[in-house]
Amino acid sequence: MKKFISVILAFTLIFSACAVSASAAVKTDCGGNCDKCPSIVVPGIGQSNVWALDEDGNYLLDADGDRMSCFPAIFDVKSIVFKVLVPVLLTLITQHDIGLSDALCDVVLDSFAVNLCDENGKNTGNIEVEKYPYSVAECSDYEKEQIYDNIPLQAYSEIAGEDHLYYFAYNSFGNNKDIVDELYQFIQMVKEETGHDKVNIVPISMGGSIANGLFEYYPDVVNDLNKVVYIVPALNGSTIVGDLYTKNFTFFDTDYLYNGFLETLMDEEEARMIEVIARILPDKVLAGTLQKVANCLVEDVAANITMLWGLCPKEYYPEASAALLKNKPEIKKQTDAFYKAQLNSDANIQKLVDAGVQVFNIVDYDVPLYQIGNSWNNDNADGVIQLSSTAMGVKSAIVGETLGDDYVQANTSPNCSDRTHNHISPDNVVDASTGLLPDTTFYFDAQNHEQTARNDIIISLATRLLATDDIKDVYSTDEYPQFSARRDTRDLKNNYIPTAKAVDTSALSAEDAAELAAAIKEAEDFVNGTNCYAGQQDEIEKRLNDILVKIGVWTVEEEEEPSTFFTDASLWLYDNFGTAGFSQIPFVAIKLVFENVFSFVGSLLGGII
Ligand SMILES: [Zn+2]
Ligand SMILES: [Zn+2]
Repeated sequence: MKKFISVILAFTLIFSACAVSASAAVKTDCGGNCDKCPSIVVPGIGQSNVWALDEDGNYLLDADGDRMSCFPAIFDVKSIVFKVLVPVLLTLITQHDIGLSDALCDVVLDSFAVNLCDENGKNTGNIEVEKYPYSVAECSDYEKEQIYDNIPLQAYSEIAGEDHLYYFAYNSFGNNKDIVDELYQFIQMVKEETGHDKVNIVPISMGGSIANGLFEYYPDVVNDLNKVVYIVPALNGSTIVGDLYTKNFTFFDTDYLYNGFLETLMDEEEARMIEVIARILPDKVLAGTLQKVANCLVEDVAANITMLWGLCPKEYYPEASAALLKNKPEIKKQTDAFYKAQLNSDANIQKLVDAGVQVFNIVDYDVPLYQIGNSWNNDNADGVIQLSSTAMGVKSAIVGETLGDDYVQANTSPNCSDRTHNHISPDNVVDASTGLLPDTTFYFDAQNHEQTARNDIIISLATRLLATDDIKDVYSTDEYPQFSARRDTRDLKNNYIPTAKAVDTSALSAEDAAELAAAIKEAEDFVNGTNCYAGQQDEIEKRLNDILVKIGVWTVEEEEEPSTFFTDASLWLYDNFGTAGFSQIPFVAIKLVFENVFSFVGSLLGGII
């Protein structure tokens, strides 16, 4: 009997992590009796398809017959031109805002109509969220393509089975509380369908804010979780959104608007061209119009979207909600509740850790935030989210700076298992010992947020974390150290290496043949390897490119000197006339002439007297 009990106990231990007995509804091959817990991806903003519908519930189609995506808005160029044409002409002729800003506000409301929410924070658009309430195994080819395109976890599926992978689609502009509730139900559904009593969740970017809500509103979900693998999670929002809700925009400063702002968002010559054209309006008219449109976007669109409030950092929320939600008590009730979840984010994650849930985090750094809000350079970032948000309060130097030669690791986290660990990044930018999870957070230097899923190291790391138990922390294997870097090896794999390997080396000099072979070997080692440093990919591509050019396989394309016409024009205008519009320039010029004449006459008189 004793033996029997111990056998039972042993079995229970073996399967306790993930398995329960199979029930009738179980759809997996393993019936819940395997050592791979199913994984649920909770994707980022805009990574779920939301389609616009007509009154009859049919899909709205564009001119090409494609369904119309509601993210981020539906811009109908024809109706926009129709709406703004007359006000633009009147404004140009009179050089005063004759209906232009009002027309543009109308355009904003029209374009975001499908994403508008009512005073209860519920979406009022006629839309359909494309959901997958079943495993990837049951998805159509089209659905699989949508999912794998957002997060290429095919290797995970090969190991764990597509019946162990789920994708939780949601409306990025929907209701925060409803979506958290849905995720909780989704987890229960996955447990039932797979037969497993625990799941892994993979909150990506905005998915991190949904996880905040999940852990706050459903503390018992801790019993449903095996692992949490965060990828660039917005655990304390993004300061871009904080600046949006507090209307702290960089482009409200006209000097920056006419010289610098657009260059951060697009190609310089294009940006300078827009700067020059913008001078057809007086600076006050342009700035006033922009302010009014931004106000409309914040107050009439963003203020009602509780999912977007989920991205407002806790430092900005009290001021922003007091200003924008005064007369919206129901929305404020919901966002206040979420604010609490955000304040408790670290404490709730600590509860998971204490309960034995394995929590991992994968983050990017050393890419400046888009310079839309004035807080853009307050913290290191990945282009979209500040590092302290993704890396759970970590301390770092801002982009382009280091912590300093005298910096000493602060060791403020309770979760470092050995105080002799070196948690300072090799470039001396990040002190990982100050984030909540020093031993299980992986950092990628120079990696930008939007290209995270194109970094095959990040995807293979996530796969290993989800599909196996061999990585417990950043010290488990040299293959995945704490600090690695940006890369996107698709061009190397699909172009550089195949081209180099196809070269007939018989006609090459011994020296060139040796260099080609060495360059190929280095590139293959790099592609097959699982860690790198910032800039390494460029070096490897350059080496292959150089030898392929030298042996005549590739030719150097004579690059035309890019035109700098608008850049020169815009800078000249700015230097000579500040932010003045063309109609103001004659007055500025006359003023300049007079000033010069006076100072000349003055100095002349000074000389005489
Ligand atoms: Zn299984
Ligand atoms: Zn440590």
